Amino acid sequence: MSSSLNGKVVLITGAASGIGRATAIKLSKLGCALALTDIVETDLGETAESCHTEKIITAALDVSNADQSELVLKETVEYFGRLDHIFNCAGINPTPYPLLDLPEGYFDKLVAVNLKGTYNVTKAALPHLKEHAGCSFVNVSSILGLKPSKLQATYCATKYAIIGFSKSMALELGERGIRVNVVAPGFIQTPTNASVVAGPDFVKSAEQSVSLGRLGTAAEIADVVAFLMSDEAKYMNGSVVEINGGLAN
Ligand code: NAP
Repeated sequence: MSSSLNGKVVLITGAASGIGRATAIKLSKLGCALALTDIVETDLGETAESCHTEKIITAALDVSNADQSELVLKETVEYFGRLDHIFNCAGINPTPYPLLDLPEGYFDKLVAVNLKGTYNVTKAALPHLKEHAGCSFVNVSSILGLKPSKLQATYCATKYAIIGFSKSMALELGERGIRVNVVAPGFIQTPTNASVVAGPDFVKSAEQSVSLGRLGTAAEIADVVAFLMSDEAKYMNGSVVEINGGLAN
């Protein structure tokens, strides 16, 4: 699987941790050259060291910053001479707030990073993508982009929006042979996962709600991201892939 990714250049946002880091490691094993980005460049060292390639650059990229997005995308293409896939992974996981206690700054930050960040990086990447050459975007929604959750209105809003944005992108870019797909993870064991941060009791209840009886791993999301980028998924466009171990409703 995924040998079609050998030699492809992939830019990952939020690559210093969790799902972004696991995807970098997976893609490196498949022969990709990687532009690893995150809000703090020095945090990318551990990811870069874990990757099975020397074809790596790292860069600070705050996805909520449009100018920085443009600059990093330009530098990536100047360095590698091409760009094939973008994994829009950077995001802020949810903190529960009753609506009346929801700080405006929290709302603005989630929209700026989770939603506008994907827009900024997409807009900056598009001019560099060759048409009808197998290029693609994979964007990250969530199970909370498909079903509502009490006290998570802001996060849900950004993750529902990612699906609308991506499906519209897919219609526009499909005509140019550029695919856009979405992963919607469930409870995944990463440093900022809400259930993990909430403590062992919450983790236990999260595990009980999953048919497979456990939280997912970041590597299990990375496997699907790599598949979506690969030629094996070449007729997938505008798809939302749920990866949650089986959740009711
Ligand atoms: P994570 O371990 O916290 O990794 C996210 C990375 O994004 C961190 O390195 C973080 O840096 C970085 N980041 C934050 N703000 C940024 C910005 N403005 N620009 C660039 N990078 C920024 O989270 P994760 O669990 O792997 O989540 C990755 C994506 O999957 C997110 O979009 C998340 O919403 C989504 N997701 C996760 C789960 C889950 O259960 N884990 C479920 C569904 C969806 P700092 O650490 O410095 O903030």
